[in-house]
Amino acid sequence: MTPILPGATLGMMGGGQLGRMFVHAAQRLGYFTAVLDPDPHSPAGCVSHHHVQTGYSDAQGLAQLAALSAAVTTEFENVPADALQSLAAQRPVAPSAGAVAIAQDRIEEKAHFSACAATSGVPCAPYAVLQTQAQLQAAPANLLPGILKTARMGYDGKGQVRVATPAELARAWSELGQVPCVLEKMLPLKAECSVLVARGWDGQVVSYPPQRNVHVDGILAITHAYGGCLPAELAARARAATEAIAAQIDYVGLLCVEFFVLDGGAGADTLVVNEMAPRPHNSGHYTLDACDFSQFDLQVHALTGLPLPTPRQHSPALMLNLLGDVWFDAQGQLRTPDWAGVLALPGAHLHLYGKTEARRGRKMGHLTFTGAELSGVLSSAREAARRLGLPGLESLG
Ligand code: ATP
Ligand code: MG
Repeated sequence: MTPILPGATLGMMGGGQLGRMFVHAAQRLGYFTAVLDPDPHSPAGCVSHHHVQTGYSDAQGLAQLAALSAAVTTEFENVPADALQSLAAQRPVAPSAGAVAIAQDRIEEKAHFSACAATSGVPCAPYAVLQTQAQLQAAPANLLPGILKTARMGYDGKGQVRVATPAELARAWSELGQVPCVLEKMLPLKAECSVLVARGWDGQVVSYPPQRNVHVDGILAITHAYGGCLPAELAARARAATEAIAAQIDYVGLLCVEFFVLDGGAGADTLVVNEMAPRPHNSGHYTLDACDFSQFDLQVHALTGLPLPTPRQHSPALMLNLLGDVWFDAQGQLRTPDWAGVLALPGAHLHLYGKTEARRGRKMGHLTFTGAELSGVLSSAREAARRLGLPGLESLG
């Protein structure tokens, strides 16, 4: 593909924080941006040159976005694949509608991971598809205790129910409206990690070293990103598997693949692939402050066909997610967190997404700590987590 050079307008489906950080990266390079999102106050729409304020399937809105944009990408996997398909008839779209369709349906996604297992060397968790009464009756007992997950529209642990018995499974499926689901075996996780890979139109691939993630209540709380955050051999396996998963579908753009790590006992720990996001990922936000090229820079390069630089991490980093809970005090009253105090800590980088209303569990921003030495990074992060009352403190050593 002939590169789309700065000065052109890049289109973004979705106006959340990931779109906002893409817009920042694109604008720094001299691109103009157009965001399609129905919310007049969307974080990305508010900072973009153009904001098409319609639904994701609105024919007029899509036509407007296509007319404005030299190429289009997406910031969330639940954008209707049909919408991307119709845009792709007019403009380069990356990732493709097909790749997004796989990522937005756990049944398709697991089939893809299983198909890749021979080359990636990494299986997914044992699971069964649950779409019919017959499949409910036939659900393998060895998947219990397990997690019932809706095939579509799940994120941040939503659309998931933990079940221990066949009766609980039947109740949970009924509570979820008997929509298509997967039942996944509950695995004893030793750790979780993720890998970010960028792949160009020509198949060139660059990736970051895997980062280790700590989830609390199904939502990412902390990302550790520094040498030694994972065993080197395990990290190399995760990275190779991610590149295989991207190559198998000729993926173009920035992709994140999440993994579970299982205790291998006396042998090497086992990797299990959990899910993929066809876009930058919360666990890659540290790249903004700790790397010479961020995941959003690479998203821009991949979309436009610019050369893909090999990113280099220059500082150890630790990221703390800032959910809306931080805006509530012990009495449940709204407060403004003590940002000045947090920013007095060495190496603190505050990112707030411009969301006007704080709600519990809502991703409002993140804090990344960087420094010359890991010890300083961790002590600043511990102090910030303590002052803000963030969860997962015990994983900070
Ligand atoms: P995301 O916000 O990452 O898209 P999601 O809602 O799609 O989240 P998952 O990634 O499937 O959800 O699960 C969220 C978290 O729940 C995982 O990161 C992990 O901590 C836990 N979890 C999910 N599946 C399993 C499993 N099979 N065994 C043990 N823990 C699990
Ligand atoms: Mg996940």
